[in-house]
Amino acid sequence: MTDAAETLSIVVPVYDEEQNLATLTRKLLDTLQDLGRDFEIIFINDGSTDGSADLLDELAAGDARIRVVHFKRNFGQTSAMMAGLDYASGDIIIPIDADLQNDPADIPRLLERLDEGFDLVSGWRKDRKDDALSRNLPSWIANRIISRISGVRLHDYGCTLKAYRRSIVEDIRLYGEMHRFLPVYASWSGARTTELPVKHHARKAGRSKYGLKRVVKVPLDLLVVKFLGDYSQKPIYVFGGFGMLNHALALLTFVVMLYFKFWGGKSFIETPLPTLAALFILMGFMSMLLGLIAELVVRTYHESQDKPTYIVGRTVNLDDGGD
Ligand code: UDP
Ligand code: MG
Repeated sequence: MTDAAETLSIVVPVYDEEQNLATLTRKLLDTLQDLGRDFEIIFINDGSTDGSADLLDELAAGDARIRVVHFKRNFGQTSAMMAGLDYASGDIIIPIDADLQNDPADIPRLLERLDEGFDLVSGWRKDRKDDALSRNLPSWIANRIISRISGVRLHDYGCTLKAYRRSIVEDIRLYGEMHRFLPVYASWSGARTTELPVKHHARKAGRSKYGLKRVVKVPLDLLVVKFLGDYSQKPIYVFGGFGMLNHALALLTFVVMLYFKFWGGKSFIETPLPTLAALFILMGFMSMLLGLIAELVVRTYHESQDKPTYIVGRTVNLDDGGD
């Protein structure tokens, strides 16, 4: 499987990481130069407000293999990742965090696994060095749930360091916090997926950009991923199904109501049942109508043009525009 001609794109989302960039770049170059493959390092400056932008420009000025996409403002790590995928020209794409929590030295091991015949090798921070209570525990729970619901069994979706064959990520669009679900999308579309324990270091410089807010976002994203995965072609099955369930409940309530009236000695207004029946009927129709709107949206979605989820200010060492 090994093909010496396969080229690499390293994708690095950067948001206020000025203290880490020089070391990271040095470590990346050390590792990559030993591999004997053509490579590029694409930094996505996600609206940094510290000295990251200037520093990246300097790094790129000294080395044409270093490329920079400057966002106009902070669009979030997912958009940064999306831009990285759009601009990457390599056969293999490897995202890595800018904060040195991932270790560039793991890249050759990821590539070896890929060469064994996989399309995606997912890093697994087996010995994760983040706060146990606010980060590792929610993440452990999230990983279990995502594995269960998506059917794609991985220990660590959140680890940025992964290796993707270009072909499996080419058509994927990411929204919200969804970069962690890339392996799910990829596996659903047939990618051979595996995972590999990788090193993880505590953050030495700069601050983490995340806290507990993700605990709310991730389950909601998962709901959307699952919904889009199973029903994006036919949303009416979900909305219509829920609508019909409501109508069934309305019927049931109606029957109980009649029973009370004629055999149970309670008139209609003595029980909450009429209100309940009306409510179920209404919910049923509303849900079905929503389903029809969703069907319209789906058609628009599939037929409209791609709209990027980020805005680029300027780029360095890159031809304009992604692909
Ligand atoms: N990041 C980004 N945009 C953001 C937040 C983070 O590009 O809005 C980058 C950040 O610079 C780092 C990576 O995404 O390279 C992971 O962020 P962080 O280290 O804060 O997350 P954690 O490791 O704490 O989960
Ligand atoms: Mg980090």
